[in-house]
Amino acid sequence: MASVYLLVAGCGVISRVLSRRQIDRLSEDLLKARLRTALAEQSDREQVHLHWNGLRKFLVDRKVAESRDTTSFYLKPHDSKPLPLFHAGQFLTFRLHVPGESRPVVRCYSLSSVPDTETYRITVKKVAGGVASQFLHESVEVGDLLDVMAPRGDFCIEPSHNRPTVLLAGGVGITPLLSMAYSMTSAGAVAETWLIYSVKTAADFLLRDELRALTEDNPHLHLRLGTSSSGDACAATDFQGRISVDYLNRTLASNNYDFYICGPPPMMKSLVADLREWGVPPTSIHTEAFGASSVQVLSAAMKSETEGESRNSGDVTAGHSVNCLKSCKTGTWNDATPNLLLFAESLDINIDAGCRAASCGSCVTAIRSGCVKYLETPGYSCDDNTCLPCVAIPDGQLDLDA
Ligand SMILES: Cc1cc2nc3c(=O)[nH]c(=O)nc-3n(C[C@H](O)[C@H](O)[C@H](O)COP(=O)(O)OP(=O)(O)OC[C@H]3O[C@@H](n4cnc5c(N)ncnc54)[C@H](O)[C@@H]3O)c2cc1C
Repeated sequence: MASVYLLVAGCGVISRVLSRRQIDRLSEDLLKARLRTALAEQSDREQVHLHWNGLRKFLVDRKVAESRDTTSFYLKPHDSKPLPLFHAGQFLTFRLHVPGESRPVVRCYSLSSVPDTETYRITVKKVAGGVASQFLHESVEVGDLLDVMAPRGDFCIEPSHNRPTVLLAGGVGITPLLSMAYSMTSAGAVAETWLIYSVKTAADFLLRDELRALTEDNPHLHLRLGTSSSGDACAATDFQGRISVDYLNRTLASNNYDFYICGPPPMMKSLVADLREWGVPPTSIHTEAFGASSVQVLSAAMKSETEGESRNSGDVTAGHSVNCLKSCKTGTWNDATPNLLLFAESLDINIDAGCRAASCGSCVTAIRSGCVKYLETPGYSCDDNTCLPCVAIPDGQLDLDA
């Protein structure tokens, strides 16, 4: 009897000790979680503090040729103060004073580096006949100062997210995706990640050594390189031809990944359409378009099923006049015009425009009277009584401060 009593009492003591330990462990976990939240909140507050409005001067610290037509620019803030940590995938907007141009030229360039508080890097392809890219390549040198807006854009990845991910890059479209791969690697992300990169010829690969070094640091990152030129069959690459869903089907375990795509318009258009056909939901397809023609091609591919509907049902605003008060010009809105930015340009009115996709905010224009409606939800949030003409259309008669 006594031994049973001792046994029961002993068990009681043990269970009390165990539950005390359990409580201690839970309290410790709770404390750690609170500490993590507090640190994250403090870092967010610091980041907001480090962000800047308008333009900031940046010094070109290094200029490095990456291929025959592509150069990286390493930029340091002229005020030597710390930089906000950008989100991998974001871009910088430049206001360039190009000799011979009557007004500053606004262009966006994705950050191609690991998020860092001292230096930003962009990687620019020289475009034939291109104003900004030729100027950057030929005239901008180490020691020059450039006017730069803070990092923006919502083509971003959360580095610690746990979803299997595929980064699909074509040509210079590697820039935001390389930054994402860096960011995931430095965050110790364990999600299965593929970076599939295609260029015309082997000589066009950008930052290939960095890509290979990343796969050594990150066992979860799988790199596949391909060339589309048939004359390049002997190049040491993983696949021949453009990136296709057929190739993805052969390479990936399933279609259950988040896809991030950046490349030339034909590649983006066909990949987006084919991924949708392969059963990938639109919420798992993220894209970045480099420039006006890419934006148009891509929005057509992304919205092909709904666009007709929204434009045809009660969205008709044709016939209203749009007055651009600063330039004293008036036009009649025509529903064939894609947006107010192109409408203004058709009247020879210049509005600064970097991304033309509602992300950079450089085209923000004041509304003097009337209203606009948006064809897509802007990534950049602007103040009341202003609009982003690159994705807006008039909702009735409109007076713009343009
Ligand atoms: C979010 C974002 C990120 C980007 N990231 C990068 C990046 O990382 N790297 C990069 O290299 N680029 C990037 N770009 C593209 C970049 O912003 C520029 O569009 C690109 O450098 C070309 O600009 P440009 O001034 O040199 O060419 P533009 O002067 O704009 O000309 C572009 C093309 O149009 C032709 N053209 C110009 N005017 C006319 C005309 N009147 N009639 C007919 N044709 C004409 C030119 O000959 C040229 O072929 C990005 C764009 C965006 C929106």
